[in-house]
Amino acid sequence: MKAKEFWITALALGAIAAVSVVAYRYVSQPPRDLCRVCARGLHPGVTYRLEVSAGKEDACCPRCGMHYAIQHPGAVKKAWATDLTTGEFVAAQSAYYVEGGDVEYCTMHSSPVERQPQGASMRDYDRCLPSLVAFHTKQEAEVYQQQHGGRVVDFSGAMESVKEQ
Ligand SMILES: [Zn+2]
Repeated sequence: MKAKEFWITALALGAIAAVSVVAYRYVSQPPRDLCRVCARGLHPGVTYRLEVSAGKEDACCPRCGMHYAIQHPGAVKKAWATDLTTGEFVAAQSAYYVEGGDVEYCTMHSSPVERQPQGASMRDYDRCLPSLVAFHTKQEAEVYQQQHGGRVVDFSGAMESVKEQ
């Protein structure tokens, strides 16, 4: 190998290594805030905020927050869901939800599903699945549904579904 080629190769490898280190640092960074219910990292577009006696607590997604409300009757005074379109909080009761769309926000960064030798999935139950995302308007929910599948439900429909899980 000529000297010039060697240095070009070395530079290229160095650049790849630098990018990998940066990428690794980025993905290995712990999330700034964790869900108060399941301790997963919070994702800005799907955070669900609960007002309880101790103050405001954030859950990683509407499904997780609704689980908490069902398991602790009377503890949640008020709830807000994040409108996925704008990233702003909206009153949970007036929001529309898409359940079962193909983007699983809470679990997309978790480690791969472990499988038993027989091939059975370990992830039989997950508090955050099927995915549940919120929108300010029914129209926005329907647009999302057209792109990602699932079904559009209102607050009480979402609560009913979470209860059944
Ligand atoms: Zn959670």
